[in-house]
Amino acid sequence: MSEITPRPLAELTTLGVGAAPLRMREAATPEELVAELRAVWEAGDEWFVLGGGSNLLAGDEPFDGTVVLVRTAGFAAVPGAPEGSRRIRVEAGQDWDALVAWTVEQGLAGIEAMSGIPGTVGAAPIQNVGAYGQEIVQTLVSVELLDEGAEAVVEVPADELGLGPRTSVLKRHYGAEPERSAVVVALTLELREVGTDPRPLEDPRLRQALGLDGARADGEDGAGRVSLGWIRRTVLAIRGSKGMVLDANDADTRSAGSFFNNPILSDADARALPADCPRWPIESEADRPQVFALDTWDGVVRPPAPSAPPVKVSAAWLIEHAGLGRGYGLPGSRATLSTKHTLALTNRGGATAEQVAELARFCRTRVAAEYGVELNPEPVFVGVTL
Ligand SMILES: Cc1cc2nc3c(=O)[nH]c(=O)nc-3n(C[C@H](O)[C@H](O)[C@H](O)COP(=O)(O)OP(=O)(O)OC[C@H]3O[C@@H](n4cnc5c(N)ncnc54)[C@H](O)[C@@H]3O)c2cc1C
Repeated sequence: MSEITPRPLAELTTLGVGAAPLRMREAATPEELVAELRAVWEAGDEWFVLGGGSNLLAGDEPFDGTVVLVRTAGFAAVPGAPEGSRRIRVEAGQDWDALVAWTVEQGLAGIEAMSGIPGTVGAAPIQNVGAYGQEIVQTLVSVELLDEGAEAVVEVPADELGLGPRTSVLKRHYGAEPERSAVVVALTLELREVGTDPRPLEDPRLRQALGLDGARADGEDGAGRVSLGWIRRTVLAIRGSKGMVLDANDADTRSAGSFFNNPILSDADARALPADCPRWPIESEADRPQVFALDTWDGVVRPPAPSAPPVKVSAAWLIEHAGLGRGYGLPGSRATLSTKHTLALTNRGGATAEQVAELARFCRTRVAAEYGVELNPEPVFVGVTL
């Protein structure tokens, strides 16, 4: 435990850009992680922690502070789960996909559709990772957090983390500080014991994403039933075809995954877009729980005022239809859109962070000019502004 020679962030991030920070520390155990963070905070240094580097755009100039590499690993069952479920406590630096693979082998359901997402478990709550209808908010029980400057790690229930679409109170949003500056040291998931045999899949979003209502209607057993293993294999195949599983031989995967969030618009604004722009309604007001202040509540439950729910629209469609097709790059730049879809910005080899940022700016400007919609980036930026 102590400082190590800083390595270029280009080597430690999936986008493959970024200079070496001024200082770097590495933690292989939870105790080391806490000690390293305390040392940085006591020194009053600027800092951030780095997991798998798969959701980070780091700048070309050295970060003037300390990067702490989270290299802890491991997981174990813990008590507290209701009948038919199992709780698993996982160290922050654990590789996410290796955990998913293990849960699938064990017949534990809840994160199998998030197969193939790169990075570490500790980073998963930061933006409430999700794919194909599953999000970590659905299975996360609590996180063990070390708040900046605090003495001790505290256990925080998942519902205090503000987990929403690709966001939480822990995320360093573009251009803003996180609401809660803290590091996830470990977390606990609660997964359902469903076994490894094929079974009917109820979740409509997952059914649709996996083609179970269409091309793959036979499922795994010819009767529409599927096992966790089948879901994992199918998700990995679909993601692989889109360059969304890391592959050293595929430059389309040298990215930070989806670069822009799908914008959430009012129903009226969404209606102004061309009809063929894909869209998904967000939960309706009627589905949303109502909260009453007990000291002022008159005891009557009134229906919520009717209003059309907001609508999520496809950022990939907006980019493509603003004239920026697959593989698009600015002249002379080594950063281009993925050749498989328009939502990933990729490094074709030798790109700079500034080239990635230029392309991102261009996408935003084109989409704003064409459709009046603002695209917001999903990855965390350090030393880069759009
Ligand atoms: C090919 C590809 C596909 C992807 N697909 C998806 C997808 O389907 N769904 C999805 O949601 N995301 C996806 N992503 C984005 C990314 O994989 C996830 O956000 C992942 O959880 C990031 O983990 P990481 O360890 O790499 O985080 P990093 O990039 O290392 O860090 C990201 C942010 O989290 C912070 N952080 C990291 N660890 C901790 C910690 N222990 N405590 C506090 N803060 C921490 C960092 O400081 C940084 O601000 C994809 C990325 C790629 C490259």
